[in-house]
Amino acid sequence: MRIVITGGAGFIGSHLCERFLLEGHEVVCVDNFITGTYSNIETFLDSPRFTLLTHDISKPLYLDGPVDAVLHFASPASPIDYLRYPIQTLKVGSLGTHNALGLARAKGARFLLASTSEVYGDPQVHPQSENYWGHVNPIGVRGVYDEAKRFAEALTMAYHRCHGLRTHIARIFNTYGPRMRLDDGRALPNFMGQALRQEPITVYGDGSQTRSFCYIDDLVEGIVRLLWTDYPEPVNLGNPEEITILDFAREILELTGGKSQIVFRPLPQDDPRVRRPDISRARELLGWEPKISRREGLRRTLEYFRRMMRLS
Ligand code: NAD
Ligand code: UDP
Repeated sequence: MRIVITGGAGFIGSHLCERFLLEGHEVVCVDNFITGTYSNIETFLDSPRFTLLTHDISKPLYLDGPVDAVLHFASPASPIDYLRYPIQTLKVGSLGTHNALGLARAKGARFLLASTSEVYGDPQVHPQSENYWGHVNPIGVRGVYDEAKRFAEALTMAYHRCHGLRTHIARIFNTYGPRMRLDDGRALPNFMGQALRQEPITVYGDGSQTRSFCYIDDLVEGIVRLLWTDYPEPVNLGNPEEITILDFAREILELTGGKSQIVFRPLPQDDPRVRRPDISRARELLGWEPKISRREGLRRTLEYFRRMMRLS
């Protein structure tokens, strides 16, 4: 198979590149490196089955030769990234999705959209199942990301309905693991970086808001299974084990053996109060559920961050 991955130099995208290369496929990674890292894909460049195209997918992309699947993962994804690049985020979710769908259509390829639990906004239903339509503030600071992804889902369904394209929508919940950037501003890299540098751990608000963290290998398995189904509607992929952010900070502090203080900082605007996936659909359709415990996933991620900090 020849598989195109937009955002292939990012955290999740690079793990997908690796997985498809290991399975013996050809991978075309399309990335403009706005938030991605060359070191994430450096080791794949030796493979004759790996091609890197430095390209902004918000502009049309024409490729020679057959393509079997297009996975659209390009987008700034952490809150500080999409607040720094609001217009690029809106463009890659709208124009970028249009171009990636256009490529899939031209090649008769399958298409998989990396959507997000952010389509549920600050949810009023808990846990969140795919039938919930969400509670998003379109003009708030997070709206650039949430609405771009909601538009991307609508466009994907339109291509499926109008053109008969084989499309898939993964609603991805908070995912973590090696190759996250230490400075991406998300809770986990912040807490681990702060603990390792013996700096105060910054918990926003009172830390009672919840998230549910999924280890990258589990997510990749879910995405691969979804890609080869015939199911076009959204599927939640995430780990249903929920934790408050304050407990998460404590857990990381304990794991690192650090002595940092926990300090409280203002809660960002529209920060969701709770988030936990209902994964019944993924269980039934894909026979999938996360296998890696938070403790094990955090241990592997910490090892990676320790190595990165030694190198820098
Ligand atoms: P990331 O920032 O590490 O990766 C995104 C990649 O897309 C980067 O390599 C970036 O350079 C590239 N990119 C951005 N705009 C582009 C453009 N216009 N053209 C080409 N490349 C572009 O983020 P991630 O955490 O790996 O997220 C990947 C995808 O998964 C995103 O679409 C994100 O919305 C989605 N997602 C991630 C999570 C999570 O917890 N990590 C949760 C839900 C959804
Ligand atoms: N958060 C925090 N301290 C930090 C970074 C994030 O308390 O240094 C909080 C943030 O306000 C949110 C939760 O942790 O409530 C998860 O944030 P993240 O940016 O990881 O992901 P998202 O908000 O997109 O779920």
